Amino acid sequence: MGFEKFGVVSFTSQSRASAFVDYLEKGEVRGTKCRSCGRVFFPPRADCSWCMKSDVEWVEIKGEGTLVSYTKVNYGPTGFEKEVPYILALADFNGTKVFGRFNKDVAEDTVKVGMAVKVSPLNLSEGRISYEFLPA
Ligand SMILES: [Zn+2]
Repeated sequence: MGFEKFGVVSFTSQSRASAFVDYLEKGEVRGTKCRSCGRVFFPPRADCSWCMKSDVEWVEIKGEGTLVSYTKVNYGPTGFEKEVPYILALADFNGTKVFGRFNKDVAEDTVKVGMAVKVSPLNLSEGRISYEFLPA
């Protein structure tokens, strides 16, 4: 339990990576790192898809990332209809790719591939929580 608070729409109430929500509530965006091969996963995974081990630790995604790509969403999927338009982005944090939405107040014409971004928890209505990108 605990994962039902994540995001605009919850697709599951349980996850072996539910601590992700606890970290968001503490102000931290975290992924998992495989203790065996060192790969970092975002979104966090309880199992390493590379070496198939299940020994992972939580690592904070912090500092500046680089915007790799983005798109403007004008027609949202189920549950996101009222959120549009919004910008979906992919950013690189020291080799870890992070996918998410940009802060809704960031103007599209200020978003550029290669720009420095940071990722931060985002409190939603009704006690829900997610994360978002902001210019660094
Ligand atoms: Zn691994």
